[in-house]
Amino acid sequence: MRYVSTRGQAPVLDFEAAMLTGLARDGGLYLPERIPQMAPAEIAALAGLPYEEAALRVMRPYIGDAFSDAEFEAIIARAYAGFNHVARAPLVQLGPNHHLLELFHGPTLAFKDFAMQLIGQLFEAALSRSGTRVCIVGATSGDTGSAAIEAFRGLDMVDVFILYPQGRVSEVQRRQMTTPSEANVHAIAVEGHFDDCQARVKDMFNDFAFRDAVNLAGVNSINWARVLAQVVYYFTSAAALGAPHREVSFTVPTGNFGDVFAGYIAKRMGLPVSRLVVATNQNDILHRCLTSGEYRPDGVAPSISPSMDIQVSSNFERALFEAYGRDGRAVAQLMDELKSGGFSVSQGALQALREAFDSGRCDEDETRAAIRRTWDTTGELLCPHGAVGVHVAETHLVPEVPMITLATAHPAKFPAAVEEASGQHPPLPSHMADLYDRKERVTEAANDLGVIQQIIRERIGQ
Ligand SMILES: *Cc1c(COP(=O)(O)O)cnc(C)c1O
Repeated sequence: MRYVSTRGQAPVLDFEAAMLTGLARDGGLYLPERIPQMAPAEIAALAGLPYEEAALRVMRPYIGDAFSDAEFEAIIARAYAGFNHVARAPLVQLGPNHHLLELFHGPTLAFKDFAMQLIGQLFEAALSRSGTRVCIVGATSGDTGSAAIEAFRGLDMVDVFILYPQGRVSEVQRRQMTTPSEANVHAIAVEGHFDDCQARVKDMFNDFAFRDAVNLAGVNSINWARVLAQVVYYFTSAAALGAPHREVSFTVPTGNFGDVFAGYIAKRMGLPVSRLVVATNQNDILHRCLTSGEYRPDGVAPSISPSMDIQVSSNFERALFEAYGRDGRAVAQLMDELKSGGFSVSQGALQALREAFDSGRCDEDETRAAIRRTWDTTGELLCPHGAVGVHVAETHLVPEVPMITLATAHPAKFPAAVEEASGQHPPLPSHMADLYDRKERVTEAANDLGVIQQIIRERIGQ
């Protein structure tokens, strides 16, 4: 399997190289040259399988010869062993035709664990084979960073640096990043927003001298291996509800567009998905773009669903690449225009995007109301991100097609907002009960590329 960049100018890579590099050298994102197909009988056969077995079948065609079947099977087994639910991604029914896919039973209580735990094991296997040490640098609005630190802490071949916007992540998220004591883990609090953190990481990848000197590797949601890991639960949940014999729809609380893009890949592989609904909070650039064709960032307003407080949605570039008929030049041009304020999607591409995605937005009051209403009617306590999904999903329900809304984080990750909305205090699962007592360790940094690069060089002795 070969991987190409969304900007068309970077070298074509195999799975292992695309995974280890993250961002392509032309600034683009890697995608498989061709999307493998799953036949209806293969999809039907996923129903009732252990999650790990389904994961092997869905992901195998993308791996090429990077790992043998036995190696890949062992990698998957280790990745999901630390989950707290035997089903890994259980479905819960919310209404006659509405289901919640609980993706928060991993070690850091958010869906990011599905991808990050897998990528930790993939990196370890690939790097120990080649004897290479890498420096993983990532930006987080909260959940990616904790998931990355949890996945890479204590590994021999990896240093992990996570940039998060100071004061803009929840206390649980911050503590999950600052309390691990392993020497290869570095949490950096940046004075700025998530988009600043993400921009500094992109800058580091575009500084080729630095990139090569520290052996930079990226595990942000742009990394293809992360998108791939997320494709699996679209298949398992749809198969559980009767696919391929009946269609299902999904509503996905969306920020960087990685999760919903995984749903798009599942559909392209042959999963009968009726609608994929992009749910945004008040930071609704994706909803506005899918409605009007105009992609113009206008600042971030902090919300109670902070992991979706995003204006530059990095994986949207992959959707644009597909909508523009895989024209890397056109995508590179749009990304250039974005640097000077924004871009307009062409009529043809907008039509293609709208065929693939519906969208909706949910403001702060609506988010709180969805938490309260869902608690009152089902006894299910939603985190604010899942609540954004449920609110938007409710406006997209149709009688004959089951809707699956992705619950992307555990309510205990956002206790203040959940308690305010529902009157219920969501307790942390018992394995994390002492989180508030653990010692924190963090480095503060200005929103400045040179300052951050210096910290990294010092820490790894370069
Ligand atoms: C990251 C995250 C999202 C957004 O997912 P994307 O793949 O970035 O669109 C939604 N909810 C939670 C809890 C998250 O951590």
